[in-house]
Amino acid sequence: MKKDILSMLPEELEAEILSLGEAKYRASQVGKWLSRGARSFEEMSDLPKSFREKLDEAFYLHKPSVLSKQVSAIDGTIKYLWELRDGNAVETVVMSYQYGNTVCISSQVGCRQGCAFCASTIGGLVRCLEPSEMLDEVLFSELDSGKRISHIVLMGIGEPLDNFDNVVRFLKLVNDPKGLNIGMRHITLSTCGLTERFDDLAALDLQLTLTVSLHAPDDETRSKIMPANRGRGVDEVVAACKRYYQKTGRRISFEYAMIDGVNDTASHASLLCKRARDCGAHVNLIPLNHVEERRFRPSTQGHMKAFMKILDENGVNYTVRRTLGSDVDASCGQLRRKMEKNAAGN
Ligand code: SAH
Repeated sequence: MKKDILSMLPEELEAEILSLGEAKYRASQVGKWLSRGARSFEEMSDLPKSFREKLDEAFYLHKPSVLSKQVSAIDGTIKYLWELRDGNAVETVVMSYQYGNTVCISSQVGCRQGCAFCASTIGGLVRCLEPSEMLDEVLFSELDSGKRISHIVLMGIGEPLDNFDNVVRFLKLVNDPKGLNIGMRHITLSTCGLTERFDDLAALDLQLTLTVSLHAPDDETRSKIMPANRGRGVDEVVAACKRYYQKTGRRISFEYAMIDGVNDTASHASLLCKRARDCGAHVNLIPLNHVEERRFRPSTQGHMKAFMKILDENGVNYTVRRTLGSDVDASCGQLRRKMEKNAAGN
């Protein structure tokens, strides 16, 4: 069986090349081609033909192809739908900010967390992405768009902590100085709160930003909209956040999508303040993105204002997320879903 060369760390690639009976320096030659986006051994023109054939027998490579590309007329946000090696598709979004270009990548095909407001989870989990596939979301977004990527957020389709080992390997690959060389402090990992993995992540001391999709400060509301809360609970989420902060010195952020009549009352706001204080979290408020298949609506301006007033009064740090790419279905999961529906003819 051919191996996935692009998912290998530099030292692993070196060992593989040595085991093929080749000199060590060949590994860095191959690595250079891979990091520039070469996705066949044939095009590695400065390598001897016999070596390229050997590589081709031992490893596979695949170039993700663009199934669709939408560019927002409002803010230039680009949304890609990539076709993977096995025909599955995932979404990647490129957003431009003053501080640089951020790519939002998917970590799984589909998702099994079942959040009631989210489009990504509607068809369940199909499979986890390989490290190489996540790496190529970043690299080919950069090559296709011509925009130098400086920041990464794992906020596309999927739950990164449900694909822990592959995600950690991806982080190491993308951080490699000889590769894309993106600093850990420029990477944000978002989770629905799989708390059993927080300590594992903290132990790696990666200096990335951990964002927790809280969306409700009490178990009754949170378990209703986020099945991942059942059996864990908000107390446990907050305790795990606190431990993460204490171990890494990295402040957590809470994502909070404001949903009309669900999580946007004054008592939700007051309890959210307590939760944020208990673990030193920053709060990101986002107006809910309406998803066609879901019954939820974004909170009204009035409710959002009243909510923010309570956060202000309690001295809680928060930001209101700007909505980018609203004309290109940039809320993840929506584009893949649309393609599936079209394919199914409904
Ligand atoms: N599984 C991870 C990361 C993917 S989702 C997580 O749950 O954090 C990225 C963010 O978008 C999450 O905070 C998620 O809750 C949020 N989200 C999903 N659907 C949304 C919608 N319709 N409107 C606003 N935010 C949404």
